[in-house]
Amino acid sequence: MPDSATFDRSLLRAIQEASPDGILVVDGQGRVASFNRRFLEIWRISGEQMASSSARKGGAERDSGILPEAAEKVADSEGFIRRIRELYANPQLSDHCEIELKDQRTLERHSVGLRDDSGEYLGRVWFFRDITARKSDEAALRHLAMHDSLTGVMNRNQFFERAGEELRRAQRYRKPLAMLMLDLDHFKRINDVHGHGAGDAVLTTTCQLWMSELRSVDLLARIGGEEFALLMPDSPLSAAQVAAERLRALTSAAVVTFQDREIRFTVSGGIAMVDPDDSTIEAALHRADLALYRAKKAGRNRMEIAPDPPGGEDAAPD
Ligand code: GH3
Ligand code: MG
Ligand code: MG
Repeated sequence: MPDSATFDRSLLRAIQEASPDGILVVDGQGRVASFNRRFLEIWRISGEQMASSSARKGGAERDSGILPEAAEKVADSEGFIRRIRELYANPQLSDHCEIELKDQRTLERHSVGLRDDSGEYLGRVWFFRDITARKSDEAALRHLAMHDSLTGVMNRNQFFERAGEELRRAQRYRKPLAMLMLDLDHFKRINDVHGHGAGDAVLTTTCQLWMSELRSVDLLARIGGEEFALLMPDSPLSAAQVAAERLRALTSAAVVTFQDREIRFTVSGGIAMVDPDDSTIEAALHRADLALYRAKKAGRNRMEIAPDPPGGEDAAPD
């Protein structure tokens, strides 16, 4: 059996070599006591850089010499250095945080103080893990949950959540909020004549066209097969009418080429102002839907305005 010191040293070396984390150990004087290969890989620091940095004394602030090399790669260099100094100044503190790098990667950092059995401060251990892939998977999943997979615009659930926030904001700041319901005309025919793939291409192109026209604050969502809702913050009726007319004109001028065939199409819409007394967004959506129904009845390829809330007694769509 090896003596326990030999065993401990070997164990430590094995842990350092096998660890998926970059590990840096800094002694009580601020000198680099050890680091593993993964540390160099994660921070993209060469062995030579590390050797010359390690030779530099940390000094009173107990920085390890490697700190400036690392800080240079961090998006918020100042915050990074401030926190590291705070941790060196307070050996009892441990740390767990995420660090954004300038090269778009994200690292997770853990740090703990090293003490001997009597509690004497011996230094600090830093663990760094590259969590870039996990972060981008999480972002992709979040995007998937909030958007329509065909067209890329917001889905119904996300729309109602965001629209609720806009409703509360409009009420708090007394800003006009306009709702537009859009429905492609005779869309079933496009599917019937050109096939479902052509219908999909029309939906995708239409959304791209509309998105290119809208402001970044506007909320466009696919709330049904070929039905869309558009919420326009800070828009009085006149502005909403102009926007709706622009979308209508843009749509009727669009040509989608699918399997060498040119497809033209139109859209109808209903505009309703959100009432400051509405408790939910559904009431405005319903009024916009009634106006949309009138636009369909009046011949399609047009935008109709819903009457003010007390007068909204149009027949419901069948
Ligand atoms: P209107 O002018 O009255 O709105 O007539 P319309 O044909 O557009 O309306 P209708 O509700 O009769 O038909 C809508 C069609 O949209 C029926 C459905 O098969 C089609 N649809 C729904 N979702 C999708 C989709 O994701 N892709 C494609 N290609 N078609 C879809
Ligand atoms: Mg339709
Ligand atoms: Mg429809």
